[in-house]
Amino acid sequence: MQTPDSKSTTPSAAMVIVGAGHCGGRAAHALRNAGWQGAIHLVGDEAHAPYERPPLSKDLLTGDKTADACALLSPDAMADLQITRHVARVTGIDASARLVTLSDGQQLPYQSLLLATGGKVRTLSIPGGDLPEVLTLRNLGDAAALSSRLGAGQRLLVVGGGFIGLEVAASARKLGCEVTVVEGAPRLMGRAVPEPVAERALALHRERGVRVLLGVNPISISRTANSMSMALSDGSRIEADTVLAGIGIVPDLSLAQSAGLAVARGVLVNAQLQTSQPGIFAAGDLAEFPSVLSGQLVRQETWHNAETQAAIAAHNMLGGTEAYASQPWFWSDQYDHQLQVMGEPALAAHSATRMLDDGGLVIFYLDAANRLVGACGWGQSSRVAKELKLARTLVERRITAAPDVLVDPATKLKALLSHDR
Ligand code: ADP
Repeated sequence: MQTPDSKSTTPSAAMVIVGAGHCGGRAAHALRNAGWQGAIHLVGDEAHAPYERPPLSKDLLTGDKTADACALLSPDAMADLQITRHVARVTGIDASARLVTLSDGQQLPYQSLLLATGGKVRTLSIPGGDLPEVLTLRNLGDAAALSSRLGAGQRLLVVGGGFIGLEVAASARKLGCEVTVVEGAPRLMGRAVPEPVAERALALHRERGVRVLLGVNPISISRTANSMSMALSDGSRIEADTVLAGIGIVPDLSLAQSAGLAVARGVLVNAQLQTSQPGIFAAGDLAEFPSVLSGQLVRQETWHNAETQAAIAAHNMLGGTEAYASQPWFWSDQYDHQLQVMGEPALAAHSATRMLDDGGLVIFYLDAANRLVGACGWGQSSRVAKELKLARTLVERRITAAPDVLVDPATKLKALLSHDR
């Protein structure tokens, strides 16, 4: 990375970050690490210090991790780094005056501004979808509310067979709940996971006692004497104590739109993560950016995206011109299994499936010239971790390899790392 001239600042110059989640917190830290000596304002409406979200549906829910252990930056660390935290909402951005207005009436001038406001959970727009026993899971408060309703014998009905829904289902089984998952599509995790892996995840959930209904939608929810009752599109009904809607998020574009920024499915940014307005950057769940592999505009709602875009955005807020060049990567932990997807399997001309000896698998995705464009793996976490790490390095380096070599159990993936690029 080239070093931007981060120290040439007037005393009043400030960096303002809107959104104090994972991406915002990391960017604030990165600005200070890069040598920025002016003010750093981190504005967000959650009372908590910035934290990582992956544990919310897993260890935090099962009580194996505390909320404090999820923190990215403790209040003490923020004080040491002289990051000024504002628990408030930004109500307006004046892009020409380079000024943001907060809900508490304060106005903050900025030299560079980062929008890292993420997304809002989608809620069930059906009769009864707004009952208090119908929960969503996006922040620490949501996790605490859900966790307090889970325990042996509790009946949990999860709507949505995506990552959140399935991770919560696995955690709830661990806690002894009776769990049903209702997924509208004919298969699980349709947004981002290839079919063969989704099929294995389905089999595992059923084996572990989750009732999974595919191709069925909720129609309405009502409250009976001491339970919830959901009517489904196939005419059946399910009784439960708690309903969790895990049906995705939508990026919150209203602030960006009112500031005159170009938006489409997210806030549009170029490879440097700059929006259509000078001095304003966007990163994380809400940014729609050009994929390094295809050049197509994509949005990524992942830990990896928040983490890596925060670093590039901070660098460029200080005058750098670095392009975001990281490939997509995400994982999901369910029971003692893990899945990972890396690169962009959708760009593949063909695939090659490598079976692992313990029932796990890695599917490699190749372009027409046998260059790796992605991979997806699944198996028992302790057994597949090493293989998936190597697969990820192969994809990141865009190694060229023949499908029969990739599937051959005698091929050591490590040996392929020295292949041509
Ligand atoms: P999340 O990160 O919240 O899990 P995903 O997009 O990965 O989000 O998964 C959401 C899942 O919810 C998808 O599989 C989608 O098909 C499913 N879904 C969305 N709306 C409904 C609905 N009304 N009823 C049932 N399933 C739904």
